[in-house]
Amino acid sequence: MLPHDLRFLFSDYFDERGRARPGCCARIEGHAHTSHADGYSPARDCVRRALELGLDTLAFAEHMRRGAPWRDAYFEEVEALRDEYRGRLRILCGIEVTALRGPDALDTDPESLERADFVAGSVHGLWAAAQGMGIDPFHRPGAHEALDGESELLRSLAVDPRVHVIGHPFGAYYERHGCPPAHAVLEIARLAADNGKAIEINVRHMDAGWFARCLAQAGPGVLFWPASDAHLARHVGRAASVLFPDDAA
Ligand SMILES: [Zn+2]
Ligand SMILES: [Zn+2]
Repeated sequence: MLPHDLRFLFSDYFDERGRARPGCCARIEGHAHTSHADGYSPARDCVRRALELGLDTLAFAEHMRRGAPWRDAYFEEVEALRDEYRGRLRILCGIEVTALRGPDALDTDPESLERADFVAGSVHGLWAAAQGMGIDPFHRPGAHEALDGESELLRSLAVDPRVHVIGHPFGAYYERHGCPPAHAVLEIARLAADNGKAIEINVRHMDAGWFARCLAQAGPGVLFWPASDAHLARHVGRAASVLFPDDAA
């Protein structure tokens, strides 16, 4: 479970039409990568950027697949930064893990799950989810298949006790087919809320304004997580400035 003060209740920050409430801002970057994996900026540059912007929390969420060779280096560097900046910036050493089809369901290792401050579970395409299951890697699903497949994986993330945040929900669908049907978002948002998980409002993989309007209809208890999916230090903080533009001004 996320620490209590990082449980951002959607209805505290957004009105019933999904607009940011005046004076509200969650000053967190919830999803940043580093040069250990496919990011381009060292973790320290992301930290500097977060401080420049006046964020109070920076959550790294590095890709942590099984056997990732950078695993220990990533944890050691971010944990050291977490200690160094304690009192100035809250740094979370999290991981982003890919949802898989099948019994074990997450493409990561138990040590990383144990060591991470939080776990974001994400769908990275239906082929990635089915790896090792004999699926044609060049298969490109149509809209219905993509929606059904991503919804199924998101449901499993929403009830998985190892997962704290649902990463870029319907981002894979959005990339090819645009915004998904609202009912699909509402179903996952409810399931996440009922299981105490936060759901990302990801400004890179979704029309964030549309998504916030959807979440506004999802009923009580929805927890959101501002996420830029920053792969460059200069992208750190984009989610907070997009979601809370008045605060950024
Ligand atoms: Zn991702
Ligand atoms: Zn990511």
